[in-house]
Amino acid sequence: MYDVIILGGGPAGVSASLYCKRANKNVLMIYNEESGLKYAHKIDNYYGFENGITGEDLYNAGVKQAQNIGVDTSKEEILKIEVERYSRPNSEEKNDSLFKVTTDKKSYESKAIILAFGAKKNTLNIDGIKELEGKGISYCAICDGFFYRNKDVAVIGSGNYAISETNDLINVANKITILTNGEKAPEFRADNVDVITKNIKNISGENRVEEVRFEDDSTIKTDGVFIAQGTAGAAEFAKKLGLVTKNDKIVVDENMQTNIKGIYACGDCTGGLLQVSKAVYEGTKAGLAVVEYLK
Ligand SMILES: Cc1cc2nc3c(=O)[nH]c(=O)nc-3n(C[C@H](O)[C@H](O)[C@H](O)COP(=O)(O)OP(=O)(O)OC[C@H]3O[C@@H](n4cnc5c(N)ncnc54)[C@H](O)[C@@H]3O)c2cc1C
Repeated sequence: MYDVIILGGGPAGVSASLYCKRANKNVLMIYNEESGLKYAHKIDNYYGFENGITGEDLYNAGVKQAQNIGVDTSKEEILKIEVERYSRPNSEEKNDSLFKVTTDKKSYESKAIILAFGAKKNTLNIDGIKELEGKGISYCAICDGFFYRNKDVAVIGSGNYAISETNDLINVANKITILTNGEKAPEFRADNVDVITKNIKNISGENRVEEVRFEDDSTIKTDGVFIAQGTAGAAEFAKKLGLVTKNDKIVVDENMQTNIKGIYACGDCTGGLLQVSKAVYEGTKAGLAVVEYLK
């Protein structure tokens, strides 16, 4: 059991981890390689680097810095965040929320979590997705799976996240077809799960999703399509947790607290200025706020 699990190891997550660890908290920071920094060829507008620094070097140095002061770190893909026990915000209740984070390797529990997922957004340019959102296109199996009891659904994706979403549908839907859209089929088998690896041309339906058409013009009938392309980011997790968002960014108060007590968010995933300096500032605030919360 950790005091706090920090999800993301970019400037926001690392800054939060430093403040939590320096206050003697038991901290785990989980991250992978998907920081915005990895795409920044050179950062020369951040304090202290007279000749600039590559985004990759800054990212690696940040993770090392956290490790050096004793933060537990782990390179894993985060698949699921669950609220096991919940205290309402601003209530007089004790701060006793409890969270469970599941990755591609294992599960962890903590009293608080800090979301520092960055601004990565999975966009899938397939005709019909935008038009049919909310009409059979879903981004959250655990939220919407219930509407597809005994119906046929498809899951678009081929990685661990797609498998995790499929698992959430297995006992609900009649049949699930994983559509890899040209990617390699996942090593996953279940009685009511098929895999199709063809490229998708479009998704269509009169008033809601009815059919998926492939590039070779073959089709399948389906009642719903769940998008689980790539790895999950802030928007997907926020939706599943029931966090208030605006334009896919997590809404926080002045202490970086979300609408769920014990869940804080910082950095690019809260929107506004998408810069390292702002991520560091918000990570600092979130770290200090969590220390206060855990008192
Ligand atoms: C091309 C480019 C150039 C840029 N140039 C500049 C610049 O010159 N100056 C500047 O100040 N800013 C620049 N930025 C912006 C800067 O990179 C971001 O503002 C900053 O990285 C935000 O920090 P963050 O910690 O909020 O998120 P990120 O740095 O994006 O970190 C997100 C963290 O979440 C983790 N994560 C996400 N999803 C998962 C998952 N499912 N499982 C596990 N881990 C996950 C990632 O691995 C990563 O550790 C640039 C960005 C880009 C894309």
